[in-house]
Amino acid sequence: MSDNNLRSVLLRLDGASYKAYKDIKGNYQFPDFTLIIDYIQGDPFASPSKFRVKVPQSVARFPKQLYKSGSREIALRDYLTRQFHHVASQISFRRGTGKSGLIGITQCLARGETAPLKQEVLPRTSAFIDDNDLEIRFVVGLPARGRRILGRQAVEMLCEDIPDIVEKALYYDALDHQAIQEQVETVEDADWIRQQLSSKNLTAFVPNGAILPRRSGVDNRSLVENAIAFQSPSSLEVAFNCPNRGAIKGMGIPEGITLIVGGGYHGKSTLLQAIELGVYNQIPGDGRELVVTNPNAVKIRAEDGRSIAGVNISPFINHLPGGKSTTNFSTTNASGSTSQAANIIEALEANAQLLLVDEDTSATNFTIRDRRMQILIAKEKEPITPFIDKVRQLYSDYGVSTILVMGGSGDYFEVADTVIAMDNYQPYDVTEQAKAIAKDYPSNRNAEGGTAFGGITSRIPVNTSIDPSTHKRSVKLKVRELDDIAFGTEDIDLAAVSQIVDSAQLRAIAYALVYTKEHYLDHQTTIPEILDLVMRDLAEQGLDILTDSTQGDLALFRRFEFAAALNRLRSLKIKDKD
Ligand code: ADP
Ligand code: MG
Repeated sequence: MSDNNLRSVLLRLDGASYKAYKDIKGNYQFPDFTLIIDYIQGDPFASPSKFRVKVPQSVARFPKQLYKSGSREIALRDYLTRQFHHVASQISFRRGTGKSGLIGITQCLARGETAPLKQEVLPRTSAFIDDNDLEIRFVVGLPARGRRILGRQAVEMLCEDIPDIVEKALYYDALDHQAIQEQVETVEDADWIRQQLSSKNLTAFVPNGAILPRRSGVDNRSLVENAIAFQSPSSLEVAFNCPNRGAIKGMGIPEGITLIVGGGYHGKSTLLQAIELGVYNQIPGDGRELVVTNPNAVKIRAEDGRSIAGVNISPFINHLPGGKSTTNFSTTNASGSTSQAANIIEALEANAQLLLVDEDTSATNFTIRDRRMQILIAKEKEPITPFIDKVRQLYSDYGVSTILVMGGSGDYFEVADTVIAMDNYQPYDVTEQAKAIAKDYPSNRNAEGGTAFGGITSRIPVNTSIDPSTHKRSVKLKVRELDDIAFGTEDIDLAAVSQIVDSAQLRAIAYALVYTKEHYLDHQTTIPEILDLVMRDLAEQGLDILTDSTQGDLALFRRFEFAAALNRLRSLKIKDKD
């Protein structure tokens, strides 16, 4: 079928009832590209219709160098997604009832069309490119007045606006060549530095000149006015030789235990947040695009109220009142300290290599227990072994490093390898000073953690405890913003999991839970093995394996965020030991 066929069908449908739109499902050959209509919405208010365009490279003409490496390909696909969204939002407008008139990339529309886009560059199902063609997946609100089809408006949208968007957003010659080059080179450099971290025994790198603060709590773009650029203290300065931009210098945070100290409002949490998101790449201009972190870094916080299923939290919590087991600890309503302990143990079970902890979001009794409290409340009466007494063992036994924001307690000086002070948003290396102070003013604490961290148990989930069905449907999934997955009749609350950065990741995680149930929940495979298998499948075969129909609104997630969703499923049950 050609675009002229589509045109005449739409004109014929003018005034018909909305359901008649179903007739246009299928493929249409336009002069320069193919339009594929995969799914038609049921009414003008329902989730919009799903469309694709495939543009042959003979027309799009993207040079091979822009997608020759894995890093570049992901960066270019991200660029095309943003460009399509940008052009579509300028060209499309409201054309009737409900979503009528909408043309856009799904995840960009989550909060309405004016929301600033996410800064992260993620592998997504919204755009693909290879030597043959380029594919963009997007959504369209097929136009109607009430429930009557607006055929002429549909012709304008599908046969005029879409070709116009394609021409302006997807033809290399129409785009800003320098901006594309910068995007692919920046992402490739960031990936490269991230790969080099471990060979230099570093957990994170913050380049000189980086802009870490954000515009506001709800706007993730870089602060423009009065932002102080990052400058490494000379003792922590390291250099990398990047494939594209060449030499770059900045602060390297060594493996081991690092404290970030400093007065309130001096930029401690801002630095930690940049490190937390350094597991992902950001677009050029973000200010943090070359801040990189060990990809297996996990942000840890207290999260009272969460459920916990069969976690061995005994390294941190023992002899609870009532004799409740802590090697196989379950609760539907965790406390601050038990939730923080479980968050750490679950991250370790998933093979985290770096923990990121901020005092702002930590349970105090999990973090410290000072000399005076040790005397008043005997060790036998305190179930919690505070993090300060385990953080060193965690590094020596398992090689897991910690970066901890700690403005409130100098007791941590003893266990720290590196101490960075933030002063007026600038970092200073105060390790020597902190060590000297620890010597001159002993805390007189008793270390309560023993010599070993303790065992980390790999759990086996029970298949039937992961159930995406409802009375009506065998699989029912819904994602709300960044916070929440409706999974069957359950609600998975992920508001505390800050390294989920995009609702498209959440959507992919929801599908991945179903995929896991179908493929790997055999009552033998442990959670770390399941994570290996699922992430391997996604790396080898792409996100499309998670869904039967073609979806444009999925983005890749990390194993840790996937595990976080599984662990927060309130119905989750763990198989008993044989
Ligand atoms: P702390 O954790 O030390 O209390 P925050 O990191 O929360 O401080 O930062 C306090 C405020 O300062 C925030 O509003 C943040 O956006 C701003 N800020 C942080 N770093 C910078 C910087 N480099 N330049 C300008 N403002 C900054
Ligand atoms: Mg803070």
